[in-house]
Amino acid sequence: MDRVEQFHLVVVTCPAARVDFPALSGRPRAMTLSTRITTLLGDGSDGWDVFNKARGMIADGVAVTELTIGEHDIRTHPDILAAMNASAVGGHTGYAAIPGTPGLASAVADRIARQSGVPTRPENILITAGGQAGLFAAHMGVTDPGDKALFIDPYYATYPGTIRSVGAVPHPIVTQARHAFLPQRDALEEAAKSAKSLLINSPNNPTGVIYPRETLEMIADICIRHDLWLISDEVYDSQVWDGAHLSPRALPGMAERTLVIGSMSKSFAMTGARVGWVCGPETAISHLTDLSTNTNYGVAGFVQDAAEYALRRGNGLEQEVAAPFRRRRAITLDALRGQTAVTAIPPQGAMYTMLDIRATGLTGEAFAYGLLEAEHIAVMPGESFGQSAAGHIRVAMTVDDDTYRDALSRLIQFAQVRAA
Ligand code: PMP
Repeated sequence: MDRVEQFHLVVVTCPAARVDFPALSGRPRAMTLSTRITTLLGDGSDGWDVFNKARGMIADGVAVTELTIGEHDIRTHPDILAAMNASAVGGHTGYAAIPGTPGLASAVADRIARQSGVPTRPENILITAGGQAGLFAAHMGVTDPGDKALFIDPYYATYPGTIRSVGAVPHPIVTQARHAFLPQRDALEEAAKSAKSLLINSPNNPTGVIYPRETLEMIADICIRHDLWLISDEVYDSQVWDGAHLSPRALPGMAERTLVIGSMSKSFAMTGARVGWVCGPETAISHLTDLSTNTNYGVAGFVQDAAEYALRRGNGLEQEVAAPFRRRRAITLDALRGQTAVTAIPPQGAMYTMLDIRATGLTGEAFAYGLLEAEHIAVMPGESFGQSAAGHIRVAMTVDDDTYRDALSRLIQFAQVRAA
């Protein structure tokens, strides 16, 4: 084995917390990684084991129906790609403005002002590399190391890791299926006493629930009385099937303590473009711009131009992107009728349905593994979204209607046999 091979062997097989580099003397020297990075995933699992297993089966040539991640079955609209191409070919390939191009920042501000009714200027907007970078920036902006950062369980898989990555301490607020997974005042009030921030997500991934006005008013009241920052993840705001999306930033006293996270990923099928935003008070945005300068140094100019083009096209395009999920929601509710092995809180928004499979006596994880083995259908176990979603599975409505209908019917049969 030569020196290079030896080096690869040591690096690739190293345990998470240690990387051994061969020192010049020939003896490996142990380098320590930060606790922050090695404990990012908490218990060491990111809850994506079933997904990874499904991907492994696909790589081995097995035909698996994937109802796992929030990736559309359509691609980015050709007009958006044409705008991206025109911008790049036209020369917007150098460093782009860091808080965001003036054009995109004002298109985002206009959209937010129109939808929420809250006066919003480009100075309230930081363009980020997707909503995920916005979530990181927002927590970095409002918490100090050791601060308690609240989030609602069940939750989008990255939330605890994002909070840990800024040195804050993630604290889940457990909810119940019988309350439609909505946070209740008592639990929130108690946790809020010693917390710095609260992260909410409506329309919700994974539950599909949209927070009603009363819940948002209760949350606003708690944030104001306990002096909490509210981080409102609204990346699914264009996917509303039932009821209406209300941004909590619009509630009295909230604009100065709310950071809204938005994204082009879900609304315009632009997941790969990595473009999103944080909307908040000007001072916060100005400091977050410093963070952006010192981390990713902005978002590609041609991507920002494409996003601006998409936003300025009006909401016809957003509705086109959302339409398949509206149809598949109806397919889901239809498929669930007339049986009790699988039930659901009808999703009010977003591209997922959370199915209650407790009648089978299986955990979400056992159900998901069993379904993958028996039917080659991949779903996410509820447990990957926190303890509140135990005994559930999340289905992403992200395959064509016929495949989706067929997969659901096989999933229900699989459950019925076990529930009998
Ligand atoms: N928030 C939620 C609730 C999500 O589901 C996702 C993506 N699945 C994100 C944020 C991040 O999305 P992106 O970074 O692509 O905007």
